[in-house]
Parts: sequence; C-alpha cells; structure tokens
Amino acid sequence: MSNNNISEIRLSGIGGSPGICIGKAYLVDREGVEVIEKYHIGKKYLQREKNRFKAAVKKAMDELHVIIENTPEIYRQPASILETHVVLLKDKMLYEKTVETIEEEHVNAEWALRKVVASVKTIFRNMEDAYLKERVTDIVNVSDRILRNLAGAKQVDIEKIDKRVILVANDLSPAETSQINLERIKGFVTDRGGRSSHTSIIARTLEIPAVQGVDSATITIANDDLIIVDGTSGSVIVHPTKQTLVDFKARKAKYETHKVVLLKGSQLPAETFDGFHMPVMGNIELPDEVFSAIDHGGDGIGLYRTEFQYLSRRTFPGEEELFEKYKDVVKVMAPKPVIIRTLDINGDKAVANSSNSIERNPALGLRAIRYCLRHPDVFTTQLRAILRAASFGNVRILFPMISSNDELCEAKRILNQAADSLEKKGVAFNRDIEIGILIEVPSAVVMADVMAKEVDFFSIGTNDLIQYSFAIDRENRHVSHLYRPLHPAIIRMIKQVSDVAVDNGIKTFMCGEMAGDPLHIPILLGLGMDELSMNPQAIPVVKRMVRSLSIQDNQMFIKKVLKQTSATDTMKLVQDTYGDILSEKVFVE
Ligand code: PEP
Ligand code: MG
Repeated sequence: MSNNNISEIRLSGIGGSPGICIGKAYLVDREGVEVIEKYHIGKKYLQREKNRFKAAVKKAMDELHVIIENTPEIYRQPASILETHVVLLKDKMLYEKTVETIEEEHVNAEWALRKVVASVKTIFRNMEDAYLKERVTDIVNVSDRILRNLAGAKQVDIEKIDKRVILVANDLSPAETSQINLERIKGFVTDRGGRSSHTSIIARTLEIPAVQGVDSATITIANDDLIIVDGTSGSVIVHPTKQTLVDFKARKAKYETHKVVLLKGSQLPAETFDGFHMPVMGNIELPDEVFSAIDHGGDGIGLYRTEFQYLSRRTFPGEEELFEKYKDVVKVMAPKPVIIRTLDINGDKAVANSSNSIERNPALGLRAIRYCLRHPDVFTTQLRAILRAASFGNVRILFPMISSNDELCEAKRILNQAADSLEKKGVAFNRDIEIGILIEVPSAVVMADVMAKEVDFFSIGTNDLIQYSFAIDRENRHVSHLYRPLHPAIIRMIKQVSDVAVDNGIKTFMCGEMAGDPLHIPILLGLGMDELSMNPQAIPVVKRMVRSLSIQDNQMFIKKVLKQTSATDTMKLVQDTYGDILSEKVFVE
C-alpha cells in the first residue's frame, strides 16, 4: 500500500518512446469531440450549417499553419505530418462528402462529419499497406480538430500548461504532441495509439517518455495522481509505493546517464586502444528505427526483426510492400550492412491469421524457420522481397531458430528457388548476399561445425540461447533470476561457436541482449566476436566500453573467465578486473 492507503496500479501499453518520468497526471480534455448528437437541419438553414462546417475547417487549417510555422527546423519530420493534415482537411473524401451529407440528409455538421469519417476509416483499415492503415489516426486527428471548432470547445492548449506534468489523454494528435513544451511536459500516456503512430515518432524526436495503447489510462488515472511512465518497457504505474518510486528513480538516473553518453562520441568508431575495430550495430523492429540506429552511431543494422510488419493485421504483407520497406532501410544504411532476419513469428509473437491452433508451448512450437518451412509461400514472398532489396545496398540474410542442418539446407533451397523465380521474371535482384544463421538453439551450437560449411556467418542470439539452454521461459518472471548471460554454460557455448567459425573461415556476430551491456564487452572481445548488435540506445555506451579496452588484455582475460564455474564468480571476476572502468559515471547502472 502507498502512503495514502491507495493500492499501486500497474498498467501496460506500448513503449512509444523510451525513458522514465515521474510526476502528476494532467488529463487532457476531449470535450466536444467524444459525444456527438444528431439533429435535423431545416431546409432554409442548410446553407448556414454548411458555412459553419467550412468555417470550422478554415479555422483548423489556420491553426495548423500557425503550428507548422512555429515548428523549429529540427522537428521538420513532425511538421511534414502536419502538412499531411492540412491536405486531409481539403480532401474530397472528407470535405466534400461532409458538405454533401449535410445537404442530402439535413443533418448537423458534427453528425455528417462523424458519419463520413467512419466510412473513410473503414476504407483505410481495409487497406493492405500497414502504413496506410496507420493513417486512420491522422484522419481521426483531423476530424477531432474540426469537431472541436464546431463545438466551440476550447482546445486544450498544451503549450500553455504551466505545471510540470505528465499528459494523460485518450489520444494525442501529432499536432498536439509537437506543441509540447519540454520544460513543462515530462511525458505522456494515451489510451490509443501504437508504436509506429506519428505521435510516438514525434515523442521519440522530442526524446520524452511515452506509453501508448494503454486502453484504460484515462479511466484509471485521475488528475493530479502521482504516476510513473516507463516508455522503455511500456508500463505506467499509478499511485506507486515508496519502494517502486525508489526503483524507478534509480532506473531513471541510469537512463539519463546513458543519454549523456549518447551525446558524446557516439559517432566515433569503436576501436580498442590497441587498434582492434569492433563494428557496433543496431537492432530494429520497424523500418523507421533505422534512423535511431544511425543517430546513435550504429555501424549498420545487425538484426532487423521483420516479423513486426506481420503482426496486428489480418492479412500478411505482400512482396511489394515488404520490398519497399526493406529497400528503404537498405538504401538509408548503404554501404553499411543490414542483416535482415527472416520471419520469427509465433512463439511469443503469434500472428493474427495463423492457421495453427493455440500451442501449449509456443516457444517450443511452430516458430520462426519452422513456420516458414511449413508455409513456403509466405517464406518465398519474404525471400523475394529481401533479394530484390539487396540490389540497393549491403544486405545479409539471417535464418532464425535453426536447430538442424536439414532445416538450414531446406531454407537455402527455398532461397535459391526464390532467386531463380526472380531471374526468370527478369526482376532486378541480388543473389550474391551473405547468408547466416542465428545460433539460439543449443543443438545449433553442437552442430555448428557442420553448418559452418553452409553459411557465411553465425549470429548468436543469446536471448533464446539462454532460454533454451536453461529451460527458462523468457517471459516468465518467476524464473528470471536464472537468466544469466555470464553463466559458464553460455560462455562456453559462445566460445565453441566462435572457434568453429574461425576454423571454417567465417564470422561470428552477436545480436542478443547480452551484446548491449558494457559489463559483457571484455568477455565478448576476448571470445572473438566480429560484430555486436543491440538496441540503438545501447550503441554509444558499448562503443565507449570498447574504446576503454585492449583486445590483447581481453584475449588473456578470457582464459581466466573460462575457468569459472558459476555466473556469480564470472561476474565477480569481471568486476574485479574491469571495476575501475565500469565504475566510471557512464557505465554505472
Ligand atoms: C535472440 O534470441 O537473442 C534474438 C536476438 O532474437 P529475439 O530476441 O528476437 O528472439
Ligand atoms: Mg531469438
């Protein structure tokens, strides 16, 4: 129980923008937008009603122009979203259709607009393209703006809020978000929205924590409630206990420390002081995140988790849609490499239209490559898109969850077939790309010597390798204490994979979370990793750690590490040896 005998409530949503903020909630009013009444307009007042609608649109347009003009240069991306809104205001589907509806149905402007918006929303929602689907949010934002003007409701002027608060809203439009005064607004929570919404894009640009899609935020949270917003994990804590506050203040401090590091040296190469260069790359889930990887100094994309484009939709994306998305990422990153991982669906990322019934053990079920080999049509569509995108830059392909050489050979056969089909059709593509496998199932470690003959690189996925080696469900908090990357079993497996790779003249990368912790870097350098990939925010701190080390020292150090018999001992050894560096401000938790 908290100080006031009110229970702590934890809400979860989607982490729209990382970071933590703690403060009082400020509920954004939606008056005039939520409840719309229908009333009849007599023939002689129809023109007046149409004019009222036109005036509201004109006012909305003027408001947007003012916001655009006042948007600083650095937020040009959000401003272009607002320009989209200006275009939408004039769109025939919206504007003329509403005028027509007033005229034909003799209804008030609010009702007519609501009706038109509902049908436009249906059209967009049924679109194949995920990006266009997301534009429903823009249509809603634009119509809300007109409705506010029609109702004469005073728009909450976020810019004028004079308290240090966290906004809680049913939704925040990109325009509202771009009005946020960074000295006042600490972050925001919304019932609606998703990770790729424009609102979260702006939140990331502004670097304020945001959690979206919380569902019941505006119902559960009241004005002035003390709340914590953790945009990294996508959680919101209402009425936090003293202990939770202490925990989150510590986490916040850690995050802030990392942000300071981001500003310094993130674009410098990660080179040990005896001259070994370690490429440090970014993991991304959505195409737009490529910019975050670049901004944080990423030397490429070491893991593009492509399945996020398949989730939360009824139908799978087609080749053209995938190709365009992959091409964008590849072109932006070129000549730096982009490792595109083929679909890793099911497990904890079940697809909406998956035909298989609910699995008892999804992590051990028809996941990743298993799913793709069972559905060669889905797999081929993706492979063709990747091969086509490969002609625009430096692409490598990565097969997830390979547990036997048979699976690998079958995946390669389908890849070749996909290339042949493109060749036959005369479509531009690049067949000459490096192929790798994720080493994340223990059997792949054991069979690495066989599979090394078939691939150009290994990429170690420690998230799953730990899960499957120790029989720990990644999602289960009750066994999370067993989740220890520095356990000798994991370190020995990494060593085995790395040695096999050297013997066979191929490279070993790591893209699991283990790679993003500075504490692990002396070990990973000593184990001979050729590239590391991690969430973009971790890139600067890892680069900095590499720059504090010597490869020769690490090669000696690993001999000691390999003699340890527990994770705790290994951890202690790292702390004892590199404690001085790790206790520097930028590395402290
Ligand atoms: C891993 O398992 O370590 C990995 C990088 O993939 P994911 O986290 O997407 O399963
Ligand atoms: Mg994995």
